[in-house]
Amino acid sequence: MENLYNYTLSGLTNKMVELGQKKFRATQLFTWMYEKKVINFEDMTDVAVAFRNELNQKFNLVLPTIASKQVSNDGTVKLLVKLNDGMSVEVVLMRYDYGNSICISTQVGCSMGCAFCASGLMKKQRDCSIADMMGQFMLMQREIGLDDPITHMVLMGSGEPFDNYDNVIGFLKNVNNPKGLAIGARHITVSTCGIADKVRAFADEDLSVNLAISLHAPNNEIRDKIMKINKAFPLTELIDAVKYYESKSSRRVTFEYILLAGINDQDEHAKELASLVKGMNAYVNLIPFNSVFESGFKRSSNNRIHAFADYLKNSGVNSTIRKEFGHDIDAACGQLRAKKAGVI
Ligand code: SAH
Repeated sequence: MENLYNYTLSGLTNKMVELGQKKFRATQLFTWMYEKKVINFEDMTDVAVAFRNELNQKFNLVLPTIASKQVSNDGTVKLLVKLNDGMSVEVVLMRYDYGNSICISTQVGCSMGCAFCASGLMKKQRDCSIADMMGQFMLMQREIGLDDPITHMVLMGSGEPFDNYDNVIGFLKNVNNPKGLAIGARHITVSTCGIADKVRAFADEDLSVNLAISLHAPNNEIRDKIMKINKAFPLTELIDAVKYYESKSSRRVTFEYILLAGINDQDEHAKELASLVKGMNAYVNLIPFNSVFESGFKRSSNNRIHAFADYLKNSGVNSTIRKEFGHDIDAACGQLRAKKAGVI
């Protein structure tokens, strides 16, 4: 039996034709699934009973289940989600003044092996299917209530989105499609550690969502040490790909930069960073490091973080210091799931 959440609208349209149905059945099903968010074929009242029975025999709308739920003082909600094969991922909801933002996991574990990140402590177990990612959304939306809509999405949970490229593209199409979740491209952000060839391919998809690059270093020497991916795609290649994305999408790209005490947080690094992104319509998001396991890295002092931000500003580079959510429930970047699995 197939999970209907794994289909894109065009895939489902083909499937309907294959089943001898009219093409419009696909949009009709999408409306029930994504706009009305029903999870039983019985509730799709304008679908003929005979076809509902056929759907019941061939497909399901199974969601993952909630293994645990934590709510932070600041309203952040974290769910440990049990997927259909028993594996688990985490999904986090953050409340901003502009809306509710969901942080989705794209893989169980991660193989990118960034030295500061807890997700990489567990190598990739498997990719998330489209249904696994949509299931995280649907579960969270049902938990907070259908009358409190999730308006923004970031792919910044565990996993590397571009290491699960096809499923991520299918998922984003369903998220963005007006007949799907209808979340606008400006409200969606994909974050990557820098798989440059996939950044280029992604630009050609013309989804035009926001792109965030986990940069974390101003030169190859430092980046090689903390991010394995830099050996495959060094900085010039990555920056060229990012420029290509900017030109295709007309979106301003965000560079994420974790400040690691004594490693990449000095004025000289800010200077290098400023010249690296010079001429781009870039924006730097400075991230206070979450020290979640014995990685050997230390968080930069608040003074240093502000001095770094000031240096960038004086060099003409826009930056913000990332607001941290859900500290009391371990919902912050890089620390999802590992604790539960006993890795840290
Ligand atoms: N693989 C993707 C998305 C998941 S990580 C990526 O690399 O972008 C989401 C963000 O959390 C990335 O910017 C990542 O570098 C950051 N992150 C990882 N570990 C962290 C830590 N210990 N403290 C702060 N941010 C961390």
